[in-house]
Amino acid sequence: MSNFEETFDFVVVGSGGGSMCAALVMREAGKSVLILEKTSLVGGTTARSGGVMWIPNNPIMKRHGIEDSPEKAMAYLDNIVGDHADAPAATRARRQAYVTEAPRMVDFLLGQGIRLTRVSSWPDYYDERPGGSVPGRTVVAEMFDANLLGPWKNKLRPGFLPAPAMLEEFMRLARLHQSWSAKLLALRVGLRIIAAKLTGKHWLSAGTALQGQMLHVALQTGVEIRTEMPVHELIEAAGQVTGVITVKDGQPWRVGARHGVLVNAGGFAHNQRMRDIYQPGTSAKWTNAAPGDTGEMIEEMMRLGAAVGQMEEMVGYQTTLAPGTENNDVKPPVQSLTAAPHAILVDQSGVRYMNEGGSYMAYCKGMLERNKSVPAVPSWAVFDSQYIRTYMLAGTRPGRKKPKSWYDEGYLREAATIEELAHRISVEPVALKATIERFNVFVAGNKDDDFHRGDRAYDRWLGDPFHKPSQTLGTIAQPPFYAVPVVPGDVSTFGGVMTDEHARVLRTDSSVIPGLYACGTSSASMMGRAYPGAGSSIGPSFVWGFVAAKHAKEGLPF
Ligand SMILES: Cc1cc2nc3c(=O)[nH]c(=O)nc-3n(C[C@H](O)[C@H](O)[C@H](O)COP(=O)(O)OP(=O)(O)OC[C@H]3O[C@@H](n4cnc5c(N)ncnc54)[C@H](O)[C@@H]3O)c2cc1C
Repeated sequence: MSNFEETFDFVVVGSGGGSMCAALVMREAGKSVLILEKTSLVGGTTARSGGVMWIPNNPIMKRHGIEDSPEKAMAYLDNIVGDHADAPAATRARRQAYVTEAPRMVDFLLGQGIRLTRVSSWPDYYDERPGGSVPGRTVVAEMFDANLLGPWKNKLRPGFLPAPAMLEEFMRLARLHQSWSAKLLALRVGLRIIAAKLTGKHWLSAGTALQGQMLHVALQTGVEIRTEMPVHELIEAAGQVTGVITVKDGQPWRVGARHGVLVNAGGFAHNQRMRDIYQPGTSAKWTNAAPGDTGEMIEEMMRLGAAVGQMEEMVGYQTTLAPGTENNDVKPPVQSLTAAPHAILVDQSGVRYMNEGGSYMAYCKGMLERNKSVPAVPSWAVFDSQYIRTYMLAGTRPGRKKPKSWYDEGYLREAATIEELAHRISVEPVALKATIERFNVFVAGNKDDDFHRGDRAYDRWLGDPFHKPSQTLGTIAQPPFYAVPVVPGDVSTFGGVMTDEHARVLRTDSSVIPGLYACGTSSASMMGRAYPGAGSSIGPSFVWGFVAAKHAKEGLPF
């Protein structure tokens, strides 16, 4: 160990989802931990996110009287994720480990003083399948006062929610124009803002509240966290990872790790070269991931012989690039746009080709798949005046008044008839008209015979709770008609190095690289090529960080 400038029991590369969870496990066992973060801010994409974790059979569900069980969760994962040759990270052993360890991880965090709750209703994304849950299996952080972080307050990566409200409350606020309870909620949030001003509180919610709380407890328990210290290299001795090389004061800085190294350095969403290799047709310009998500640690682990899997996968997120938002950290999401009544998605031939209510991953996969036979990137969200009157569009309030640049730059296309709209988006008018007429027949019968939109609770949840009889199906019938382009953006990549049920990194011959663990989007997801429910990225990142640390603390002497 004499080669090292410093030595810790455990070194974590990146301050992503699982990093601080792993660090807390280590600290509880009395081990020293160093987290090295490349950027100037802690928290990764996790801090920027909704902060939702998909945790089946979790203690908060139990507390709220919602029925779940390991068997039910396994039945669901077996059905959705399954065993597929092209999804090698999604083994049954890993699924079983996840279902066992995930609720334990939540218990552990609660025991550490992390305040967690759940979203009252967020159906699993395939709730109609065996083991699916309609109330959903989400765990989220309660709001957190950033001032508790003291000098670290400005080192936490900001989130995307602008006011002191829980994610669930934000979702309800989108109904401001439709519901008195949403108006009352807006009032409550307004009062909260005033109270915060008077009391000097700085409330964070969603992903920042989660990572803020984690950072707070990590600092209190003596986890060493250093920012602007990128890891360039893993140090290997006699076939095992013994430390990392980072940079200090412009010089290489070698840090030893007695119990191993955990890589939680995100995926490669911002690395166009890697995207072109593994995910051709996708763009780093469409991602919402944090800027540090550049993939070099995946390549570094590959250099040591790590196998990679499912590299083509991303957590797709349907995205529209309204003028002026192209460079936003978080682009305007349109998750609900085409799942709300009075809207559909069509390809460039004017044909509808999916259940617009599916998971965002399935949605974007559908776009990319369709694009192989018919141009579908971008596709067009097509809707009518009933839609624009009632629902938000790309972050703007309901109503026809939209930024002038939207019309001037040809982003929002408007037309008095379907035929004219078809011309405006260079689609064959007969095809678009036929698509809309067919959809309107489905609306009349309240049954989407082509794609079954609305058959499952999740599709309806994405729609409008006040729209009758269907929450998701509504005619496209009232002029003017509109279209905006939709691209398969993402919130992360989802492939990476192969790991086992202890989060140990595996070589191509399936042997373990001793001393090397990975979690989060640096690793190939145990969700395989599916996204079972909200939080299927951050949940696993925390759980595999927890699992890795539990394994590593037992000791890998060298
Ligand atoms: C707006 C938005 C909402 C989302 N909502 C959810 C949600 O609610 N639930 C969910 O499951 N998913 C959500 N996602 C996706 C989810 O946030 C990410 O998939 C997840 O946070 C990735 O976490 P991670 O643990 O892999 O790493 P990250 O949280 O991305 O952290 C990785 C960290 O490693 C650092 N790093 C990279 N390379 C190095 C290096 N060489 N040396 C040192 N440090 C390095 C990075 O700078 C970064 O800070 C959302 C994403 C976005 C953008």
